[in-house]
Amino acid sequence: MSSNVDISSLAKNWRLDGLQYPSPTDVVNEVFASDVLTMEEMRQRLSKPVWKSLVATIERGATLDSAIADTVAMAMKTWAMERGATHFTHWFQPLTGLTAEKHESFVTPTSDGSAISQFSGKELIQGEPDASSFPSGGLRATFEARGYTAWDPTSPAFITRHSNGATLCVPTAFASWTGEALDNKTPLLRSIEDVNIAAKRALALFGDTDTQRVVSTVGVEQEYFLIDEEFYYRRPDLVMCGRTLFGAQPPKGQELEDHYFGSIPDRILTYMTDAEHQLYALGIPVKTRHNEVAPGQFEVAPIFEQSNIAADHQQLVMQVLRNTARRYGLVCLMHEKPFAGVNGSGKHVNWSMSTDGGQNLLEPGDTPQNNLQFLFFCAAIIRALDLHQDLVRTTVASASNDHRLGANEAPPAIMSMFLGEQLTEIFERIISGKGGSSKKAGILGLGTEVLPKLPQHAGDRNRTSPFAFTGNKFEFRAVGSSQSVSFAITVLNVIAAESIDAMSAMIAARIKKKQSFESALSDVIKDVYKKHSRIIFNGDGYSDDWHKEAAKRGLLNLTTSVSAIETLVNAKNKDLFATQGVLTARELEARQEVMLDQYFKSVNIEGETTEWIAQTQILPAVLRYLREMSSVGITSKALTGMTDELAAHADEFISALSLLRKQNAELGGETVHTKSHHMLDNVIPAMNQVRSAADALERLTAHDHWPLPSYREMLFVK
Ligand code: ADP
Ligand code: MG
Repeated sequence: MSSNVDISSLAKNWRLDGLQYPSPTDVVNEVFASDVLTMEEMRQRLSKPVWKSLVATIERGATLDSAIADTVAMAMKTWAMERGATHFTHWFQPLTGLTAEKHESFVTPTSDGSAISQFSGKELIQGEPDASSFPSGGLRATFEARGYTAWDPTSPAFITRHSNGATLCVPTAFASWTGEALDNKTPLLRSIEDVNIAAKRALALFGDTDTQRVVSTVGVEQEYFLIDEEFYYRRPDLVMCGRTLFGAQPPKGQELEDHYFGSIPDRILTYMTDAEHQLYALGIPVKTRHNEVAPGQFEVAPIFEQSNIAADHQQLVMQVLRNTARRYGLVCLMHEKPFAGVNGSGKHVNWSMSTDGGQNLLEPGDTPQNNLQFLFFCAAIIRALDLHQDLVRTTVASASNDHRLGANEAPPAIMSMFLGEQLTEIFERIISGKGGSSKKAGILGLGTEVLPKLPQHAGDRNRTSPFAFTGNKFEFRAVGSSQSVSFAITVLNVIAAESIDAMSAMIAARIKKKQSFESALSDVIKDVYKKHSRIIFNGDGYSDDWHKEAAKRGLLNLTTSVSAIETLVNAKNKDLFATQGVLTARELEARQEVMLDQYFKSVNIEGETTEWIAQTQILPAVLRYLREMSSVGITSKALTGMTDELAAHADEFISALSLLRKQNAELGGETVHTKSHHMLDNVIPAMNQVRSAADALERLTAHDHWPLPSYREMLFVK
């Protein structure tokens, strides 16, 4: 029997009936952050001394006085139980890129046979999940498999809900008993502190004595696809790998551009609204939603937050988008390239730094003083990206993102920076010594001129750049849609901190030699810009010319994830992470191991799934159809020709399949390095051959024989 989908039973019949969805009238006051244990909520529930001690922990990183931990835990439990929570969990981010949780009931049996609710300070501060199955990259041999989770009081606890209850989630870091980071949060927290220290030191040079704390800020735009659930379950490739391994191009793709920013279909909008309300309850400030370029593709973006919270919230955004889709008979695909031939999905990580006084350090200021400061920080990021292209590239390396980076619709693998004509011109004028825009003394050092206000979204806004200045922040666009943003943010923080530190030191050295601050600053900005401006490119990143030009400039072009990940542990990077106190050499090596491990495993699963579908679904279908065609019993030249054509493609398909089977039979040696190379060099090409032969067959085979839902169906039925 054919497993073709009866479209009439799908989207067409989908109705909201029976779905009980509360429609709160006052989203801002009633819903927003209603499931978050906010600071205000905590303040009301704690005595003054306990509250003060907690604030010291949160704001200054002081260790929480264990005497008050019990009190804080009690308040948290009461708050959570009032909201229907029956369990708590330490919520953490292992190196899988996902989140993990192990629920514990608040209920503790007592010796007299009854039960009490309990949540102690000890349970709040530290947990011990059975950690042996999380990837550690060799940091933790299984015989000493213990790892522990430690409360991160800088990210608020929250409640997640399901149909039958609710759970208190306590954000935590995850480390081995020897103190090595086993997660994505630990290095992120360390890097946030680096930004704080480096930026404050630099601000002090500018005479800023008010700023107590500088944080990096992050706002992440998330792209995703939605398809009808029915199709999903009939596609083993989507179920196993998150992307289609087969599928002929539909007659219509995205060329009409009729989907982009088009009106959102009712079913989708209802889904989005539901997801947004849940995100509001979690205190996630979702701001925009719209259709994306590809059919079936959408985007959501919250307002930016402090980067640790933004990273936690990003995980929740993915989780809520995925979970909610099921209520509407949809499946949310986060894979970077679920469908060949139409746009893939990414994540834009918007990044900046902000003082506790609310000053955005990448916002061109209104005063000459602020302008100088802005140019200083901006130059620091130019330097950082140029020096650490390899690292920035590595943060977005994954088997799935390889389908996107460098392909003709996504940012190239060359990590250049778009600065915009105006700002580039300002820097160029500074190094040519021409200063500001007029006969007056100019911007730097010598005069009172104010930088022209830079348009936040300049007209020539460049979508082809992986790393773009967009008026008051940088937008890192190479991040994959399914990835955790934590490592990307960690690296941005680390390289920014290192660069700010280095430039502060250059200025300090000049001041020591009796140069004035302003002229030292001017010289340092000039030097840095001259040395690192090769990273700036304002043109079309997709063009061949740029690839040639980038090679001439000596910029890295790490086109595959494997080549990028191999650079992670080079001496420069080990040194950087160690000096900044973010990852030890051992921790960095472990991360590389995990990244390669995930790479080869995901390609391996794709290789196996391709073989499986080809052998057990496509081949039998094609053979059945061939038999039908050749037994028509009418002599017709045309018919014979068509049968021959089908048979020829079937031949091609079968020989591609036997090659893939051979490659799949091997794993590629003993180490994650050799295995990854086997996947990259042998399995992927073999898979591609099977696919292209299969896609040709799809166009020749009777629709009711084809065993998989087609692109035509999956992308356009909403
Ligand atoms: P785009 O035009 O790139 O689609 P959006 O308005 O959708 O832009 O998204 C821009 C993102 O940048 C939002 O998440 C926004 O909150 C974030 N953003 C704005 N200012 C900052 C900042 N100072 N630091 C970090 N992120 C910021
Ligand atoms: Mg964007």
